[in-house]
Amino acid sequence: MKFLSTRGGQRSVSLSQAIEQGIARDGGLFMPESIPAVSSVARPLAASEGKLVFSDVAREVIAPYAAGDGLGSAIPQLCATALDFPVPLRWIDEHTGVLELFHGPTAAFKDAGARFLAACLEQLKTPGAHRRTVLVATSGDTGGAVASAFYQRDDARVVILYPDGGVSPEQEHQLTCWGGNVQAFAVQGSFDDCQRLVKAAFADDNLRASCRLTSANSINIGRLLPQIAYYAYASLVYVAQRNDVARFVVPSGNAGNVVACLMAKRMGYPIGKVCIASNANKPLLDFLSSGTSAARPSIATLANAMDVGSPSNLERLRVLYPDIERLQGEVCAFSCDDAHIVEQITSLAACTDYIVCPHTACGIYARKQLQSNEDWIVAATAHPAKFSSVVEPLLGHQIEKPEALLGIAARQSNKTTMQSDLVELQHILAGK
Ligand SMILES: *Cc1c(COP(=O)(O)O)cnc(C)c1O
Repeated sequence: MKFLSTRGGQRSVSLSQAIEQGIARDGGLFMPESIPAVSSVARPLAASEGKLVFSDVAREVIAPYAAGDGLGSAIPQLCATALDFPVPLRWIDEHTGVLELFHGPTAAFKDAGARFLAACLEQLKTPGAHRRTVLVATSGDTGGAVASAFYQRDDARVVILYPDGGVSPEQEHQLTCWGGNVQAFAVQGSFDDCQRLVKAAFADDNLRASCRLTSANSINIGRLLPQIAYYAYASLVYVAQRNDVARFVVPSGNAGNVVACLMAKRMGYPIGKVCIASNANKPLLDFLSSGTSAARPSIATLANAMDVGSPSNLERLRVLYPDIERLQGEVCAFSCDDAHIVEQITSLAACTDYIVCPHTACGIYARKQLQSNEDWIVAATAHPAKFSSVVEPLLGHQIEKPEALLGIAARQSNKTTMQSDLVELQHILAGK
């Protein structure tokens, strides 16, 4: 399998090259030159084995993308170690399922992508070369998953930039509690300043080469592939339970989550309609109604991991659906503002005892808007305890933390600040 830039300005590359490069030379995102059809092995897997295991399905899903690449033979091992957590499907009412994507080490949907990417990069290390520097700007949620995924891997160090005062105390702790090969810096500025610094560092050819700079953000195809497996797996579980195609509600801001779901559908996994759940940021709704989406500043919401004004993965969506009418036929979308997020968290807990994070609350809202008697499965993208400062005051009691978060909470944190200044970042990066 070869990978092409969404902008058409780079020769095709292998999976390894696409992962190491992160973004294409022309500024585009890598997409496979064709979407592989689901192998004849994957479907019978559902019927024959009775009990499906997420990492087994992930191996089937990812293997064709790695065909002919150096990573190919390592995929079973990489999936077994990086994706070794459960992905439970629960039913909160007769026709509403919840697919819990938060049983990884930082209780977030991004764990699968971050861990698979880290494992691939470790596999691709060059003997004798000095270690890579993974440079990330985060507005809160990504950084923790990336930090945890790369922590104590000796082939990479991680430098995380986050806006000082711009993340919740819990998020700050999850960024600053690692040490060793993971350093986090509170930048005196906004998230946009952090992103500008990262872009400036990548634009500096000397720095990029001398530090072997790598990006771990969601444009990396290595983060997308295991997310496809979430939906392939869930569709097989669902088909075994109810013998129908699965319909998904997918909370999404940067469009990475929904592109993954639609790629699983295109591969031929038993998936029917897909519904995008946005927060008050509406670029995905605009795109779906008009086929275009003007870049605009993001609005801060309670579901802050989806506060995106110009979603980078729209480029992938366009490649997947050159025909907007086909997209409109298969996908719908709803936007959920903060008042509705609050209402969904509160009323769902009152009716069912099930507690959701603000992003999942957007999904629950969208599921209700569908007003459908068919089954719909809402992807639950974070454990509510990750957003306890939002959720606990609404419920009036504390939420039990999962073990993964208890372990992280017990770690010492160590905060370091820096100016929003490229020279200071260059010094930090030159530090090793
Ligand atoms: C990143 C994230 C999402 C959405 O992912 P997209 O890439 O924007 O589609 C949803 N929920 C949580 C908790 C996230 O961290």
